[in-house]
Amino acid sequence: MEQQIQQLFDNAKQIVFLTGAGVSTASGIPDFRSANGLYTKDKNAEYYLSHRYFESDPDGFYQFAKDNLYFPEAKPNIIHTKQAQLTQQGKAAVITQNIDNLYEVAGTKNLVDFHGNLFNVYCEKCHQSVDWHDYLTSRIHQGCGGPLRPDVVLYDEGINQNNIQQSLDYLQEADLVVIVGTSMRVYPFAGLLDYRNRSAQVVAVNQQPLQFSFPFTMVQQDAVEFFNDLTV
Ligand SMILES: [Zn+2]
Repeated sequence: MEQQIQQLFDNAKQIVFLTGAGVSTASGIPDFRSANGLYTKDKNAEYYLSHRYFESDPDGFYQFAKDNLYFPEAKPNIIHTKQAQLTQQGKAAVITQNIDNLYEVAGTKNLVDFHGNLFNVYCEKCHQSVDWHDYLTSRIHQGCGGPLRPDVVLYDEGINQNNIQQSLDYLQEADLVVIVGTSMRVYPFAGLLDYRNRSAQVVAVNQQPLQFSFPFTMVQQDAVEFFNDLTV
């Protein structure tokens, strides 16, 4: 850990972490965009996670979700827990693209699940919430016979307005923006950077170098190592 970087964290009044799949892979959760096998031979994972597909082939959607998205045994790693500690100190917020619930398990406060959460399941017909264990047993709501679905943003659906507003509020308040485990290429999430406070410093922690059109500090390092070394 370079002293300068540690000082950025120490001196920050309010940090926002913008995070993605790279945070979860350290917990053994594969990035579903790179999911391979049967389903990805002729169509990409994005197609299998669209509402169009959910409606046209409910069994296929259900099977894809169960096989590629749900990892109920996964545990938070040091990246989650250090970020969660900073949020508990009232010093940080987290806006994540991840839908795996690990930030919740780590006790994160000030959290936006930008794309929703797999472990919140509801019936699309009667809108009742259902325990996710029940969903992994059957995709049909026992109460009304309607189709169950996880409360995640599918590829042809819009982002929840409250999540957008909360994200913009956190970004306006932050004087340090830290990008972790994402290359910030998927929109609309990537567009959040445009709404940062213009006085905020930006740091990116990533194995591969990232490029942006504004000045930022690139920490080319494994995120697990980085957060192991970070004193919070
Ligand atoms: Zn129902």
